Amino acid sequence: MYLNKYIKAAANLKICVIGAGYVGLVTAGCFAEAGHFVICIDKDEERVDRLSHGILPFYEPGLEKLIRKNTLAGRLTFDTDLEKGVDFARLVFIAVGTPEGNGGVVDLGAISEVAQSIGELMKDYKIIVTKSTVPVGTGDYIQKIIKGRQKRTIPFSIASNPEFLREGSAVHDNFNMERAVIGTEDNHAIRVLEELYQPFTKNILITDVRTAEMIKYASNAFLATKLTYINQIANICEKVGVDVTQVSKGMGFDARIGKSYLNAGVGYGGSCLPKDTKALVAISDEVGYSFDLLKEVIHANEKQQLRIVDKLIELIGPLVDKQITVMGVTFKPNTSDIRYAPAHIVIRELKKKGALVKAYDPMADKITKNSFGATEVSSDLYESVKNSDGIIILTEWDKIKQMDLKHIKMNMKLPVIIDGRNMFSPREMKRQGFEYSSIGRPNK
Ligand code: NAD
Repeated sequence: MYLNKYIKAAANLKICVIGAGYVGLVTAGCFAEAGHFVICIDKDEERVDRLSHGILPFYEPGLEKLIRKNTLAGRLTFDTDLEKGVDFARLVFIAVGTPEGNGGVVDLGAISEVAQSIGELMKDYKIIVTKSTVPVGTGDYIQKIIKGRQKRTIPFSIASNPEFLREGSAVHDNFNMERAVIGTEDNHAIRVLEELYQPFTKNILITDVRTAEMIKYASNAFLATKLTYINQIANICEKVGVDVTQVSKGMGFDARIGKSYLNAGVGYGGSCLPKDTKALVAISDEVGYSFDLLKEVIHANEKQQLRIVDKLIELIGPLVDKQITVMGVTFKPNTSDIRYAPAHIVIRELKKKGALVKAYDPMADKITKNSFGATEVSSDLYESVKNSDGIIILTEWDKIKQMDLKHIKMNMKLPVIIDGRNMFSPREMKRQGFEYSSIGRPNK
């Protein structure tokens, strides 16, 4: 896909990307593809070793090809030695994880560790760019740490360059970037980063560091709010006999509203929206502002994830000793990422209510055993529904959309499907003999 688009940098930069996760790997691969020389550093030795042999730690469409191509071309290398990376590069991107800490507060442990090492290791001028999602003020924090760790004064620039990729289409997103946000007060850093991003997008927004940091949280909190809004509309639609998919369509034609993020469903999950919404609430609380709207979004989303279990109970009664199949455990299709996926909450709730749970996901072989407690995740769709009293669909995988419904029905004990992603037509499911319930659509 990216090969269709000609992206070539005017000058070849030397770049170090710290963190070989979703963001770091995509960033490193895309910069290398544009012709830059990139060293990607991760502290996980096994990850680095496997990446050096072209083996990726997770599934992301197009990424393996991109990494292998650029590794072979000698533009991309992987290492655990941060000193090597810092010595090599003029531009240093920080793309380590910023997980949820206590009470939703962002855990900046990895950021602080990396900043300390950069301060100790740097021997000449560097531009230090934060790609990780971090609270407003983290740029200043990184600057202070680096200065504090330098043995002699070495100049450096600080920038914030938040990442907006979507897992499942991250490579495509990076080559078709809607905007690049560059937050820095340093003119040299602005010139270098503008040059770096010009081949990727026409929309480059230059701000100060703090504004760039805020743009990322404000964007993710808005997306979570939009999704929660349509989910709540869906819940009303169920009560008044209206189809939410038609409502979304009618709303989406309005350019002020837009079509995206209007698919009602089981609630948002993933590694970003849940943690970033909680982080923004914590950031707001810290400065004495109660972000009530966002607090309600988080609460409503948790309720939405549980509603799907109530829908199942409405159809088949108490779940004690019932065999239930959960279809789709990744937080969205085309990824192997299960972080904060609705499946965690749904499976836990099903078990709490006494159900015996089986799970299916096309990415089963990439999902760590015991990620869902004792519930094994199988990649055999038809096996997973054997003797099942009900199916709950949580991820809109094509393989689920294309499943042979006759075969499914034959294998099940009771032909009951609760569709958390509105993947099937209620009329068609009725015709096929299923008891079917979805989100915000009448069962006719
Ligand atoms: P990830 O967990 O997939 O990857 C983080 C990597 O950093 C891991 O490989 C880990 O081993 C490595 N690491 C941690 N500490 C390190 C250290 N001290 N030195 C070297 N390597 C270290 O995380 P991710 O999903 O890529 O997210 C990274 C950041 O980007 C987070 O702040 C996240 O919120 C943000 N972000 C993520 C996405 C997304 O869709 N995943 C999108 C936009 C922004």
